[in-house]
Amino acid sequence: MKALFVDQEKCTGCRRCELACSFFHFQTYSLSRVRLHVVRDGEIEGPIVCVQCGLCQYACPIKGAIIRNKKTGAFLVTTKCNPKECNGECVNACPYGVIHIDLKLKRAIKCDFCGGSPSCVEACPWNVIQYIDASSPYALNNKRVAEVRRRWSIERAYTKSSLEALKKV
Ligand code: SF4
Ligand code: SF4
Repeated sequence: MKALFVDQEKCTGCRRCELACSFFHFQTYSLSRVRLHVVRDGEIEGPIVCVQCGLCQYACPIKGAIIRNKKTGAFLVTTKCNPKECNGECVNACPYGVIHIDLKLKRAIKCDFCGGSPSCVEACPWNVIQYIDASSPYALNNKRVAEVRRRWSIERAYTKSSLEALKKV
């Protein structure tokens, strides 16, 4: 099983990873339809990615709306997802703010490893995001990543405002 590892120090904040994510899934370059987020916060910069912890699935009250791909280990949102029914419990549960309600699809979107070949990894010219063995100690221990994630929590207001907008659709 593999996981995304982020080497924050090398990130230049160019956001190619976000654009690649949007293009892979929606054939458009839209920063409002991405599944990872580049934080640009002075001294701390870098992408925040899904760690496939499964908390979103645990919080989801609709059976089968979030399932796990046995091959890649990624948690996937299915067409059973209906945010109007659950008030976006997955969004509230994610510690990293990387699952959102997509207003066009009208369901949650999150990292799916692009089926096993993450486009953000391929797009980064500086090898900041790597797709590596999930059991590697390198993947599990990065204090800088933890700090970026903590700061990112403030941006989660974005996901909440998405939910409010969805109610009006
Ligand atoms: S979207 Fe968030 S809660 Fe769901 S698996 Fe990824 S990091 Fe965990
Ligand atoms: S593509 Fe690489 S350098 Fe550019 S923002 Fe993403 S992680 Fe950072």
